[in-house]
Amino acid sequence: MSFRPCSRVACPDESAATLTFDYADSMAVLGPLSLRREPHSFDLCVRHARLTSAPQGWQMIRLSRATDDAAALGCAE
Ligand SMILES: [Zn+2]
Repeated sequence: MSFRPCSRVACPDESAATLTFDYADSMAVLGPLSLRREPHSFDLCVRHARLTSAPQGWQMIRLSRATDDAAALGCAE
């Protein structure tokens, strides 16, 4: 596996999670690091994954154990 740097500017840390935006449902999903880069996703290190929150009006869903112990917070219908 090649080194995947955090996508935040000037952050040298390795990515631990991937943030994906689902524009259709206004959902930001933070999950385990994806195997490959997707057009609407951003790789984040543990620190930035913790600090990240969804844009206003968006739902934030955290799936990654690297960033949060909750399996699927806020996923309930
Ligand atoms: Zn970072």
